Amino acid sequence: MADFDVDLFVIGGGSGGVRAARIAAGYGARVMVAEEYRMGGTCVIRGCVPKKLFVLGSHVRHEIEDAAGFGWTIPNATFDWPTLIANKDKEIARLEAAYTANVEKAGARIVKTRAVFEDAHALRLATGEKITAKHVLIATGGAPNHGRMIEGIEHVISSNEAFHLPELPRRIVIQGGGYIALEFACIFAGFGSDVTVIYRGDNILRGFDDDVRAHVRSEMEKEGITILTACTVEKVERFGKEYVTHLSNGSSLASEKVMFAIGRHPNVANLGLEQAGVAINPSNGGIAVNEYSQTNVPHIYAIGDVTHRLNLTPVAIREGHAFADTVFGKRDVTVDHADIPTAVFSQPEVGTVGLTETQARAQFSRVDIYKTTFRPLKATLSGRDTRVLMKLVVDGTSDRVVGCHIVGDYAAETIQAVAIAVKMKATKADFDATLALHPTAAEELVTMRTPTARHVRQAAE
Ligand code: FAD
Ligand code: NDP
Repeated sequence: MADFDVDLFVIGGGSGGVRAARIAAGYGARVMVAEEYRMGGTCVIRGCVPKKLFVLGSHVRHEIEDAAGFGWTIPNATFDWPTLIANKDKEIARLEAAYTANVEKAGARIVKTRAVFEDAHALRLATGEKITAKHVLIATGGAPNHGRMIEGIEHVISSNEAFHLPELPRRIVIQGGGYIALEFACIFAGFGSDVTVIYRGDNILRGFDDDVRAHVRSEMEKEGITILTACTVEKVERFGKEYVTHLSNGSSLASEKVMFAIGRHPNVANLGLEQAGVAINPSNGGIAVNEYSQTNVPHIYAIGDVTHRLNLTPVAIREGHAFADTVFGKRDVTVDHADIPTAVFSQPEVGTVGLTETQARAQFSRVDIYKTTFRPLKATLSGRDTRVLMKLVVDGTSDRVVGCHIVGDYAAETIQAVAIAVKMKATKADFDATLALHPTAAEELVTMRTPTARHVRQAAE
């Protein structure tokens, strides 16, 4: 070991890199972490955390509107965007400092600079310094896609810039129909912007359960968000402080901002991967790894978004932890990527775990569906035109609940708990045996008795 400057060099101080560095240092490894931007990475600095703060802030509008039916008069509520941005920035700076302190407390050294491979065991820092490492962990995350080079692409912002806008746009056009597009569409609409979503397919949230997709779209439209499908942005023109977005269907829209949220790509460019001999997975553009997050070069590992498996923070953290346990804790740990719960923090939220109805029908010969939509209790007095969706997907042969999908307030909180049951392979009978907690929306999950659909695949003749 003495031949190398460090036992582990981590490229990237985000969710996965930080966890791996701390755990490896805890096992006694000499660890160095390079971070070229800000410690904490995407999730903390310009992802999950500031996004959720925006969601919470924009949701206040609903609370104010809903209050009247409960007897409250709240006159002249006004919203100040710069106050929100300043308070958010203060909290993110606090978290960044905490991440830095925790890594250092664990005994790892942070270098605030870009690092690239010079060869398979040597990293070159932007400062010019060369560090040799016995093991290297690539945890460089991902970055927003811009799509093809359309005219006026330089006017388009991504989620990175959306966190730092000097003022709230009165009107915004957002291209994309996935997590980020919908979360930001609801954030801006909540704060009072006029929002238009442009999506290339027939309905938003491709890959989610079809009932979820239809329900979210209808709820967002009820909140005044315009969703245009089967079209793309072809050109963006600037006229002073205003932009005109031209669509493939021939129409055009004026707005103060145009944002693209059309996916993210793994940060693999200019990392010196060729010099290190590290291979890319041709099917997704991420770094190719095995179940231990090990690349084709045995002492080099990669975790989190740079591998483009499931781009979620808890996944990056778990992969980083498993890597450190395996390599420095000397016990083989792999990450189970099945039944990972996920939420889209649209308003209302989506919470989902396990298989969609379509996936289950492809996998099992008998599938039972339990589905309900209902008006939540709060809406009876607030008068808000909203409905909750709850859906269970059950393998009709084993009775196992293989999927759960919720759209409504607190869907993310609810699905986190349901995910334990699904991971434990709970059956529909287990759900039925669980007593309801009244009055809640989630009690519907244990009180749906009769299947709303039953699919039986005929054996091939
Ligand atoms: P990152 O957190 O991206 O960290 C990589 C780090 O590496 C970065 O800090 C980068 O600066 C640094 N770096 C890159 N190259 C180099 C180099 N050569 N040298 C030095 N440093 C380098 N996930 C959820 O689970 N829930 C959510 O609600 C959620 N919301 C999101 C909202 C948005 C707007 C976005 C963009 C993402 C969101 N995600 C969410 C996804 C989540 O942020 C990522 O999955 C997670 O951050 C991945 O962690 P990571 O460690 O792989 O990479
Ligand atoms: P997503 O993959 O979720 O969505 C991308 C959207 O852009 C899709 O609707 C896709 O359409 C569309 N699209 C892709 N390419 C083009 C193109 N060239 N032109 C027009 N539209 C296009 O990516 P996001 O950017 O929203 O988020 C990236 C990832 O970050 C997520 O997948 C998720 O892993 C993570 N994330 C997680 C969050 C959470 O946990 N709450 C929140 C935010 C991000 P189509 O469906 O037709 O391919």
